[in-house]
Amino acid sequence: MSNTGVNKEVDVLIVGAGIAGATLAANLAKTGKNIVVVERDLSERDVIIGELLQPGGVQKLGEMGFTSFIDQIDAQPVYGYDIIFEGQDYVIPYPNKNGEPSGYGFRNGAFLQNIRKHVLALDNVRVIEGAVTDLIDEKDTIVGASFKRKDAIEEEQVYAKLTVLTDGPLSTFREKLSKPVNKLNGYFLGLLLKNCELPYANHGHLVMGDHPPMVIYPVTSTSWRVLIDFKGEKPPRMGRDFKKFLLEEFENAIPQSARKAFKATVEEGKFKTFPNHRLPANPIKKEGAVILGDALNMRHPLTGGGMTAAFNDVLRLSNNLASITDFSNKKQIGKAIQKFYETRHLGTQTTNILADGLYGVVYNPDLRKAFFEYVSRGDKYAEETCSILAGLNKDKKLLLNHFIGMARYGTQMRITNSEKSKETVTQSLTMVKDAVGIITPLLLSEKPDTGNKLMLEALNRII
Ligand SMILES: Cc1cc2nc3c(=O)[nH]c(=O)nc-3n(C[C@H](O)[C@H](O)[C@H](O)COP(=O)(O)OP(=O)(O)OC[C@H]3O[C@@H](n4cnc5c(N)ncnc54)[C@H](O)[C@@H]3O)c2cc1C
Repeated sequence: MSNTGVNKEVDVLIVGAGIAGATLAANLAKTGKNIVVVERDLSERDVIIGELLQPGGVQKLGEMGFTSFIDQIDAQPVYGYDIIFEGQDYVIPYPNKNGEPSGYGFRNGAFLQNIRKHVLALDNVRVIEGAVTDLIDEKDTIVGASFKRKDAIEEEQVYAKLTVLTDGPLSTFREKLSKPVNKLNGYFLGLLLKNCELPYANHGHLVMGDHPPMVIYPVTSTSWRVLIDFKGEKPPRMGRDFKKFLLEEFENAIPQSARKAFKATVEEGKFKTFPNHRLPANPIKKEGAVILGDALNMRHPLTGGGMTAAFNDVLRLSNNLASITDFSNKKQIGKAIQKFYETRHLGTQTTNILADGLYGVVYNPDLRKAFFEYVSRGDKYAEETCSILAGLNKDKKLLLNHFIGMARYGTQMRITNSEKSKETVTQSLTMVKDAVGIITPLLLSEKPDTGNKLMLEALNRII
């Protein structure tokens, strides 16, 4: 079937063939649905987002039968993290006792083109290169979208029984299907280090210290992505002194073996930035439509959890829709969407809480030291924390126990290792208070359930 022309009424219209939209098209297509995907730009994108897929995301791809999307793109297996704190480091492997997969680093554009290539070859999916200009709302029901093909002047319409909005982090239409309370945390500056080694091949590196945090992971066999956090409302100003600033601020924090490559990359000056948002999910139920991926929910990318969350969404929604043979049955579609909104947090909440929780920790000098000391104890302190980061373990209570346990451990260490004074005790206890202050709003912004209430009561007893 050609990929031009629009069937006037299709089962499903997907807005955006990014990570979530393209994978959803591939997965829904298995049930024989008639699908149209409208994507603004089908060329391979050169971005700094979505380049480390956590093992939990690889597992979800496997459940959909799509691990081949990682093939033939020089993707690099990632076996765990090296946590670097003021020059010391501690390596934590991802869990693999039960045959859990490794993570993968890759160029996002190459990975996405693999997914799109698969979709473009499907008989029951039509992919249109064009920008959606509006969702069509008739009598409070979304019935499709208007779009303009690339280079066209005229608008066209496509009508669908179900419209799926996956227009990503910079979504234009999220307000039609959710009540977003979007917080800009700042920006990641991305650089590519070429032909160098890091302390641990095939590992992510989290670099913390008296400087903004950095993450580094392999994205091809010869290059490593470095992401440096910049807090604030505006992207870093890349004026004349920017290169000097980067070298002064970060060169010594980069592991020795990669400093030469870092310096060369900075001098070359090929930088990219992307805004980092926190967006708790707050969907509005609207007949005929559903929203997912970054359009609905974002967390800080420090822990690389976004694609894992997106694949969780894709799988959960597809499973809910799988048994519906007739998509004109609005009641059944409505029920499937309602169930998706009510249960999706079970797959995403620990990823979200950990991402923004760790982001709070790395900017708090006492807590980031406590975090390093806590995971350096090894055993369950490292393994369980890493299993949550990996997106393999979704136990929210376990996450909370480790988060508070980390702050309490920091407190104990401080009291044990410092001169006994009222000031030491007060400062130490502040750590627990700070940790609770970081995690409480994150817990509250996940879909409220009785579990959250019990946890908040437990937290109140601690402080
Ligand atoms: C700096 C940064 C680094 C990150 N690093 C990681 C990481 O290492 N690992 C990880 O798992 N996650 C990471 N993420 C998050 C991850 O990139 C996202 O969670 C993921 O890409 C979300 O997929 P999506 O499909 O919702 O959005 P996208 O993949 O961005 O797809 C949205 C698609 O919609 C299209 N589109 C938008 N508007 C229109 C329109 N009007 N009409 C037609 N098409 C449209 C876009 O062109 C795009 O193709 C990072 C995020 C940031 C900000």
